[in-house]
Amino acid sequence: MNIDNNIFKNILNNKIKANIIYKDKYITAFDDINPKAPVHIILIPNIYIKNINHIDKSNIYLLGKMLLVSSKIAKFKNINKSGYRLIINCNKDAGQEINYLHIHIIGGKYLGNIICNCNKI
Ligand code: AMP
Repeated sequence: MNIDNNIFKNILNNKIKANIIYKDKYITAFDDINPKAPVHIILIPNIYIKNINHIDKSNIYLLGKMLLVSSKIAKFKNINKSGYRLIINCNKDAGQEINYLHIHIIGGKYLGNIICNCNKI
């Protein structure tokens, strides 16, 4: 797929509108267009990485920043005490729809104590 057609890349380039809630040199975060909970934010690196399979040692600082900013956003959104979930989907069995590494920050309601809703196998 041509990266120019990538939705998240186009949000970064201001070609697609999004409600940006955080931006710095390394990271951008915006509201998910189809929220699964009262708080549902997508956090992406400003450099293109297809998914978590495509990271290497040079990305360690960036990944640490992504987690640090996720926790700051959770605090800013006041879900840090009630609780929240960080999700990184990778490839089709996890349901990754957009080929651009991203963290879902989801909270604001009880999410259940299971890590996925897949059927028993
Ligand atoms: P994933 O299944 O992990 O690839 O998640 C992709 C997420 O991107 C889904 O939760 C979508 O609702 C969200 N999404 C798709 N298009 C947009 C958009 N234009 N702005 C914000 N979020 C989007």
